[in-house]
Amino acid sequence: MAIAAHPGDAFFAMGAPVALATYRGAAGLLLSLTLGERGSSTIPPAQYGAMQRDAAEKAAALIGATPLFLSYRDGEIPVDDEASLAVCDLLRKHKPAVVVTHWKGSWHKDHVACYEIVQDAVFYAGLPALARELPAHEVRQIVFADNWEDADGFVADSYLDISPVFEPYSHACSAFPMWRGETGFRYNDYYTSRAVGCGCLSHCRYAVGLMSPAGQRVRNLQAL
Ligand SMILES: [Zn+2]
Repeated sequence: MAIAAHPGDAFFAMGAPVALATYRGAAGLLLSLTLGERGSSTIPPAQYGAMQRDAAEKAAALIGATPLFLSYRDGEIPVDDEASLAVCDLLRKHKPAVVVTHWKGSWHKDHVACYEIVQDAVFYAGLPALARELPAHEVRQIVFADNWEDADGFVADSYLDISPVFEPYSHACSAFPMWRGETGFRYNDYYTSRAVGCGCLSHCRYAVGLMSPAGQRVRNLQAL
């Protein structure tokens, strides 16, 4: 399950691991906390938000995943318990084993907010004593995605081979009106070259770098 501030982040930065999960037979979900409706300087937010939703639905279908949306306003995602509990409820409903989300080292306030919300949501989701409509669900693993906007302090500790799904992933991303640089940043070129570079480092065709929380990087050894 990807959890992102904006649909573009969910698909461009987090979509390949989700596509790989569906390719391997698991369910894949992409949750966007907003529609990213303020992402165009020329198209009004209401119209652009509808375009983003359409693109996310089309892109998700292309990788066999399910798009999910919450209705926070682009640029104004609140960091509070209402938001964390809304995500908690979706975690309890969909029961993901793994969550991929934003790293906190971002210049974008919505991305930092999403990071904070997910930390609390995962904690709340796994807490049996926290009574909600659905019973507790423990997320086994959180990983942070390699995102050009969240690069401050991001260090990949894992490379995931996405070669089997790179083409459908890239095709799915092209459903978005900004994939080829229409809003100023060449997402297509950036994420494609990134996947090639990470593939070189991990001895495969295409890969994505992922970062684990500090607690997940601890190894328990009997000998070196
Ligand atoms: Zn974003």
